Amino acid sequence: MKIAVFSAKPYDRQFIEKANEEHQHELTFFETRLSAATVALADGFQAVCVFVNDQLDSAVIKSLSESGITMIALRCAGYNNVDLKAAQAHGILVARVPAYSPYAVAEHTVALMLTLNRQIHRANNRVREGNFALDGLLGFDIHGLTVGIIGTGKIGIEVAKIMHGFGCPLLGFDVSPNVEAEEIGLKYVKLEEIYSQADIITLHCPLTPQTHHLINLQAIKTMKTGAMLINTSRGALIDTTAVIDGLKSGKIGYLGLDVYEEEGDLFFEDLSNLVLQDDVFARLLTFPNVVITGHQAFFTRNALEKIAHTTLANITEFEKSGKCSNQITA
Ligand code: NAD
Repeated sequence: MKIAVFSAKPYDRQFIEKANEEHQHELTFFETRLSAATVALADGFQAVCVFVNDQLDSAVIKSLSESGITMIALRCAGYNNVDLKAAQAHGILVARVPAYSPYAVAEHTVALMLTLNRQIHRANNRVREGNFALDGLLGFDIHGLTVGIIGTGKIGIEVAKIMHGFGCPLLGFDVSPNVEAEEIGLKYVKLEEIYSQADIITLHCPLTPQTHHLINLQAIKTMKTGAMLINTSRGALIDTTAVIDGLKSGKIGYLGLDVYEEEGDLFFEDLSNLVLQDDVFARLLTFPNVVITGHQAFFTRNALEKIAHTTLANITEFEKSGKCSNQITA
């Protein structure tokens, strides 16, 4: 098929081209994101291949349909950036990569926990400056602390297993509980109990209308003072201004983010020569107890290989049969 690949960084291109040796699709790579401003680039293609911050709202999908696009191939698991109803209405099939490496995201989640606790980010800077003082770097044993996991699917369960290995009691909340999690001792409780009992809260549910701003002023109010909050799922699970208030009051003791609700204008680009325009994000950067990475939890060699392979297999399956086993519907 003729495929327009959007948001294609050199590393994406490398892995997709390698996987395409087996499939022989006709690929054109665009570094730019897909949006209303760039949708004209999809003219003359049969499919678009997109990532987390491409904007596939109803207007973009209508334009894609008018350009003859019959498939949207997501290179990710989450699909909150796609208007599935609009795609269905225009007869465009949407497929995703449901699982590539839950380990990549789970391990990054735990890396954020450890960095925040032992202040590795600050310690590294100090040592490089010849400052070997320990004042201000005091951490705590994670062993024995209660970890609350919201969303115990493919990634949440891997986080549960790692934290079980640390010797942490586990609490979980999910709309459909996972037996495997219960087998390692995770106890399913109401959300309110997670907030009131967990020392570390980590988010692994999808972004949906139900989970939008799940962590808001009310939720933060009921958390343990000094709790650690980690979000490697989707930015808008958290109301960032409420979390900033929580950090200022000390209610939130540590914040680790790999995602941010307005990340579309920031992440995946080198903006180091520009003035940061997002004042909320700028405020987050001022806290010593906040660590932010730019949506890199997925970014391992293993994950990129699997993403490229599954994405192209999805497209080949659709080309051959008109169907795709990884199709998502509204
Ligand atoms: P998954 O579908 O396997 O698991 C998600 C879990 O959330 C499911 O068990 C589901 O029942 C649960 N859930 C759904 N609605 C819920 C709700 N309202 N409250 C509580 N739980 C709810 O997905 P996954 O592969 O584990 O991925 C989880 C999320 O991680 C994805 O949605 C995606 O947004 C994010 N993600 C981030 C990165 C990254 O690089 N930072 C990479 C991959 C995935």
